[in-house]
Amino acid sequence: PGKQSVDVIIIGAGPAGSVAAAYLLEQGLRVKIFEKSQFPRFSIGESLLPQTMEILEQVNLLQPIVEAGFQHKNGAIFRWQEEHVEFDFRNKFSPGWGVTYQVQRDKFDSILANQVEKKGAEVTYQATVKYVEYIDDGIRLEWHDNDGNVHTETAQFILDASGFGRVLPKLLDLEIPSSLPFRQSLFTHVIDQIPLATFDRNKIIITVHPHDCQTWMWLIPFSDGSLSLGAVATPTFYQQFDGLSLDQTLERIFHADTHLANLLKGARYKYPVKQIAGYSSSVNSYYGDRYALLGNAGEFLDPVFSSGVTIAFKSAQLACDVLKRQFAGETVCWQQQFVEPLLGGINTFRAFVDAWYEGTLLPILCYPNKDPEVTAMICSVLAGYAWDKRNPVVQDSQKFIRLISELCQ
Ligand code: FAD
Repeated sequence: PGKQSVDVIIIGAGPAGSVAAAYLLEQGLRVKIFEKSQFPRFSIGESLLPQTMEILEQVNLLQPIVEAGFQHKNGAIFRWQEEHVEFDFRNKFSPGWGVTYQVQRDKFDSILANQVEKKGAEVTYQATVKYVEYIDDGIRLEWHDNDGNVHTETAQFILDASGFGRVLPKLLDLEIPSSLPFRQSLFTHVIDQIPLATFDRNKIIITVHPHDCQTWMWLIPFSDGSLSLGAVATPTFYQQFDGLSLDQTLERIFHADTHLANLLKGARYKYPVKQIAGYSSSVNSYYGDRYALLGNAGEFLDPVFSSGVTIAFKSAQLACDVLKRQFAGETVCWQQQFVEPLLGGINTFRAFVDAWYEGTLLPILCYPNKDPEVTAMICSVLAGYAWDKRNPVVQDSQKFIRLISELCQ
């Protein structure tokens, strides 16, 4: 549409960046991606939700993911002391996919990035975007290669999909504190020795710590006999482990729960435990003149409902639709057509996350005599269908949680 050699520059080749590139390429636009690291690279965020399948299908990226042999996923198990509840996503209220995958992100992200490269996007790795400025008829960006050489590129529009890098929020002073408190996560992969007969690898397990209901652990099985495990807690909780290594700390946390300790008997760490802290973030605007923010570059809530990649995909879908219309000369409203629909789903997840940490959600999830229709509505959100307005839970999540909470007492 414009004079620049590229229509859209995307910062970051994670899930938001690759899916955005796929949408734009399908519209015949010229796309360049600059990615800081060399792929394959590790990333946290391994448990997908079924809603992501619909988006991958829409941009013709599903087939290579299906063929990659990732672990099948059909639900989630929530545990707290003696309580235990299983959600099978196939029993959800909303139509659409009821299954998805648990993925090693180095492989998953590489497949997506390679696919969009094949479709025509130019992907430059080891290219760190450090600066942007407006020019007469576009936007100019500066990126550094690994030898410190500085390069420039111009485009009509920039999509920032830089995840926790948050390039434009930092450069344009868009960052605001998250409504969620500071939390810290420790995680690793292990080779597990769990006998198949006693373990359903098709579901992730979320376990609340037996002695601290603000702390929880995840277990995400993979198809190669390994699994991802991690813990999320406040810095105060971790203080009791001062002096221990991260490996020992994570082991202690998992061993506090008898079921997890038994499951992980004989498990071997594949690599030393990593950590990430203070990851919840927000911005005062998701778009501006000639740019929009996708995925984690915009907002990140909390990992407890595995919503990160789903939100990243949805933001790419919505933004690219508005961009297509803008390039076609239509009058668009980014606030009404991108931000408000995106926040609709993010706020559904936000209500679930808030209720999780307030302690009101788990009793609802675990309540044994729930109406099956109510269970299906909750299951829909857990499966990622947080934008489906037909679902009463999505229409007003806070009110729904409050009402059901009273009924479950
Ligand atoms: P990313 O995947 O972070 O990709 C951003 C890319 O941008 C990276 O490749 C990075 O190298 C690149 N980049 C950064 N800075 C620059 C720069 N200056 N120039 C060029 N490139 C740059 N989500 C789930 O869906 N399921 C889960 O189970 C889950 N578990 C999680 C557990 C924890 C503890 C945390 C913290 C998050 C979890 N998430 C989970 C969230 C998930 O990690 C993210 O939401 C998801 O990766 C967001 O995708 P993205 O494309 O926005 O960003």
